[in-house]
Amino acid sequence: MTGILLAEDEPRIASFVAKGLRGAGLIPTVVTDGPSALDYATTGDFDLLVLDIGLPGLDGFEVLRRLRASGSELPVIILTARDSVTDTVAGLEGGADDYMAKPFRFEELLARIRLRLREDRTAAPTVLRAGDLSLDLHSRRLAVNGREVDLSAREFALAETFLRNPGRVLTREQLLSRVWGYDFDPGSNVVDVYVGYLRRKLGGGYLVTVRGMGYRLEPG
Ligand code: CA
Repeated sequence: MTGILLAEDEPRIASFVAKGLRGAGLIPTVVTDGPSALDYATTGDFDLLVLDIGLPGLDGFEVLRRLRASGSELPVIILTARDSVTDTVAGLEGGADDYMAKPFRFEELLARIRLRLREDRTAAPTVLRAGDLSLDLHSRRLAVNGREVDLSAREFALAETFLRNPGRVLTREQLLSRVWGYDFDPGSNVVDVYVGYLRRKLGGGYLVTVRGMGYRLEPG
């Protein structure tokens, strides 16, 4: 299993990212200050560090500097405010592998995490299967009973979320935060609209509406 250390002091973001990582089959451990981030990162128990810059105790740049000074080659993805991207690029020279500007969509962060993990040759499974459905995460192709279906980027992210949770009810709120991001308007009907698109492409009653709750994938 793949362990991700997440150093983020803002509870809303930490919980949003941790939930998404668990949904993607990864194991998150959350720390909320710089000294803990450094302690945990140097244990060797993790495959990747997602590191916020604005942390109490020691900021993310200092955590990264000390981590690299200790000889660690742990892959690091930095989280930063959009207006601090220039500082962050300086941080990359200090040994980070990549960065994400806040606010971000979870799927963007996950794509970068997967890329770093793959470079580290500890790849997660590349094809998700549920009943008649299979989704190739590399080629981004969905097959229904062997029939290939073209998906837009958003439909792909939605299909991935369902295929990682076959038979489970996913609420609109869960789908919104996994596929669109935590800063998206919760009053929007975008989830229903996109479930409708995906349902038409899949055919055959795979996506079931659970009244008053959300949607469930019945793999068939
Ligand atoms: Ca912060």
